Amino acid sequence: MAIKVHNTLTGRTEDFRPERETEVRMFVCGPTVYGPSHVGHAKTYTQFDFIAAYLEASGYKVTYLQNITDVDDKIIRRSREENVPPEDIAALFEKQYLEDMAALGNTRVDIHARAHDHIDAIVDQVKRLIARGHAYQLDDGWYFDLASFPGYGKLSGRTDLRPEDSVSRIDDHSKKRSPGDFALWKGRKDGEPFWDTELGPGRPGWHIEDTAITETFFGPSYDLHGGAVDLIFPHHEAEVAQMEAASGIEPLARYWMHTGLLRVDGDKMSKSTGNFLTIRDALARTDSRTLRYAFLSQHYRSSMELNDSTLEQARAARRRIENFARTIDPAHTDSPANTSRADATWKEMREHLDDDFDTPGALAVLFQFIREQNRTQEPSGPASLRLIQDVNDLFGTFDIASADQGDTAVDDLVKERDRLRAARNFAEADAIRDQLIKQGITLEDSPEGTRWWKEKTQ
Ligand SMILES: [Zn+2]
Repeated sequence: MAIKVHNTLTGRTEDFRPERETEVRMFVCGPTVYGPSHVGHAKTYTQFDFIAAYLEASGYKVTYLQNITDVDDKIIRRSREENVPPEDIAALFEKQYLEDMAALGNTRVDIHARAHDHIDAIVDQVKRLIARGHAYQLDDGWYFDLASFPGYGKLSGRTDLRPEDSVSRIDDHSKKRSPGDFALWKGRKDGEPFWDTELGPGRPGWHIEDTAITETFFGPSYDLHGGAVDLIFPHHEAEVAQMEAASGIEPLARYWMHTGLLRVDGDKMSKSTGNFLTIRDALARTDSRTLRYAFLSQHYRSSMELNDSTLEQARAARRRIENFARTIDPAHTDSPANTSRADATWKEMREHLDDDFDTPGALAVLFQFIREQNRTQEPSGPASLRLIQDVNDLFGTFDIASADQGDTAVDDLVKERDRLRAARNFAEADAIRDQLIKQGITLEDSPEGTRWWKEKTQ
């Protein structure tokens, strides 16, 4: 277990050492369920799904917690626009979100925690902030007093808003002590959901939902907090301020990991510019394995571009690995050279993944292995199959179920070769033919398609 993680909190790549040696308590900001999730969420959650998988594969017991923001201004606004109760809006889009995640193969969240199930914990946290002198009351609720927390800014390295921030949720009030002070508890307004509490009737602010939930499950300090880079400020900075001020314990999270942003068809995703691709839209443009592969083929910290051409590249790369898998002959007895090449490949892939989850570096090693196997005269046997299965257990992007199913696999491969030839992609088509020949298969091309048969082995 020698994983290195780039920690936003320190700005450095550090050895990953969770508080409890072999356990990882991991929290990633979940969605606000007021509309369909956009494909930028798909990138973040797919990459953290992979990170959780890799930590598990490296021997850690991971508890992966995600909140669901189901009490929020955006939900209330949509509820008014559509004249539907806010809880129905939240329930509908939570369901859609969970379906989207399942479609993408993101299965590793252990606990989904809804804000409205944690109102008591939220009130309790706000009361502690009041008692410790970190909160003040205005006519419309309770605010966090930034001046009372000198550590404000330590995560993002700043205290001021900038245009690139996710600024949709700044709480305005002319009497705030400092413009950056944010709402902890919003007093009741007509037609809005509210809870009768010791703080008065009202509902939670956005940031406090997360820290109340993480404190409930993990306590005031835990191992890993993730999210997209545009949440660092002000949202994650506010989380640090709230929890550390309330508990007097730091850090809130030992490691902060942030995913790079997604650009779609050349633009930053933004509702205001109308450039908004939902996960469902994206899955209509391509299949789920390709979309997942597209995200995992990039480093999680890189910003990336999604368009027809990057999706096509991802599809082709994924197919190259699947095509190789279909040429594997599980009945072949691997030579020592074959076995050691597969073992060395897995080891080298893991070195890349240990280094801040370098998925593109790891995949490059896999493609190098496939090129070398294609060059050898020997068929690829069980060692190759095991390698591809190990890779797929982590990535979940390859359809290799048919790899060891004999004739069906050959049929699939012959069809894929026909398709590649029709697309004039002769290099890949020939690589398939060469692999099939190695398996003792003869191909005969005719205008009606390709016939194949197995040569009798002596
Ligand atoms: Zn959050």
